Amino acid sequence: MKVLAKWIFTIAMVLSSTLTSSMGTCEATVNEENRDIKNIIFLIGDGMGVSFTSGYRYFKDDPATLELESTEFGPYLVGQQTTYPNDPRHNVTDSAASATAMATGVKTYNGAIGIGNDHSKLKSVLERAKEKGKGTGLVATAQITHGTPAAFGAHVSQRKSMSAIADDYFQDLVNGRHKIDVLLGGGSDWFIRKDRNLVKEFQKDGYSYVTSLNELKNDESAQVVGLFAKRGLPKMIDRPSNVPSLADMTTSAIERLNKYNTGFFLMVEGSQIDWAAHDNDIVGVMSEMEDFEKAYKVAVDFAKKDGHTLVIATADHSTGGFTIGAQGQYNWFSSVIKAVKRTPNYMAAKIVNGAGVKETLTKYIDLPLTKDEINLVERAARTQNVKNIDNTIEEVINLRTLTGWTTRGHTGEDVNVYAFGPGSERFKGQIDNTDHAKIIFDILK
Ligand SMILES: [Zn+2]
Repeated sequence: MKVLAKWIFTIAMVLSSTLTSSMGTCEATVNEENRDIKNIIFLIGDGMGVSFTSGYRYFKDDPATLELESTEFGPYLVGQQTTYPNDPRHNVTDSAASATAMATGVKTYNGAIGIGNDHSKLKSVLERAKEKGKGTGLVATAQITHGTPAAFGAHVSQRKSMSAIADDYFQDLVNGRHKIDVLLGGGSDWFIRKDRNLVKEFQKDGYSYVTSLNELKNDESAQVVGLFAKRGLPKMIDRPSNVPSLADMTTSAIERLNKYNTGFFLMVEGSQIDWAAHDNDIVGVMSEMEDFEKAYKVAVDFAKKDGHTLVIATADHSTGGFTIGAQGQYNWFSSVIKAVKRTPNYMAAKIVNGAGVKETLTKYIDLPLTKDEINLVERAARTQNVKNIDNTIEEVINLRTLTGWTTRGHTGEDVNVYAFGPGSERFKGQIDNTDHAKIIFDILK
């Protein structure tokens, strides 16, 4: 008995000393790594659930080979995060609550922008980066005042108050200075208003203002407001050439922010993966996944060259209950999506503006359509309602591709987390959406 006790004691001592020393090393590595991280690029694919990144892999597949090739995301998958909000009415999150969690480390109610359930202001990682003298930027394909970017730079009780969010971007200062150096996206309606012209106010304080891809490329100011649409940008597949892609905006933001020798924090949102999924529009979803993937590649390529940049990419929630395959069939025909050259919404608008149904469908869908399919859209066209026509074209494509949807809202399953660069292993495993901010705050200590 005595011998056994002695053994147990010895083992316990050895274990505890091993644990202490390994904890010590761990802390030292983390501190060293924190010093190593100069820049942070945080990318959010809005609504980009697991089936979206998997579906995108099918969509990008080379049909000549057996394997589904990896996309840009694949190599940097580190784990998953939970997304639930702190809302007595809901346990599935909206973009505002989820973005607030990722930006501030605190769970809150659906609709909240940078504030808690007690309506206190929560500091965001972008604000912390600015306190430390870093360059900061927000980039999105939605209006830049939309839920996700807003949670990083504003504090309002309801996400719908987008004028108040734009006001916050201008007048809610950090150490007496503007907190966001680079604002790129849509949403001029909330900056140039009857009661106030925030663009002029920003310009007075030294910011450039750009409204097209050319202007964006030709301007070199470290501080810029770029608004390329009154509201959201057109989807990538519908986008005219003078409207920048998410990758163009990300490239431009990095070039400007990289001038800060103190480093930078940049948030980039692929906003409309979610919008297309709310619409159950698989063509729009794949278009916006591609736009987001290219922006992600810009960030990772920069980080690879730079060596002191941490890149994180994740989603805020999933949307639409998108499934790869439907109706009990063991197939998903992504080749059909590739044959569609514009979103159903774009085609529906053309039809309402007088273009013929058959002409429009054959012009933008590179597939022989059946009589029944054309009749279905023609019947919808008689209502002269864009939404009806749009939904009908979507129905045709969903049936053809065997794309499943269970809702027009959000869903609560976990979403993937991707990370690259120094500190990336800290995002490994099963984490929560609040952990992003907690880890980034620690890095910015
Ligand atoms: Zn969202």
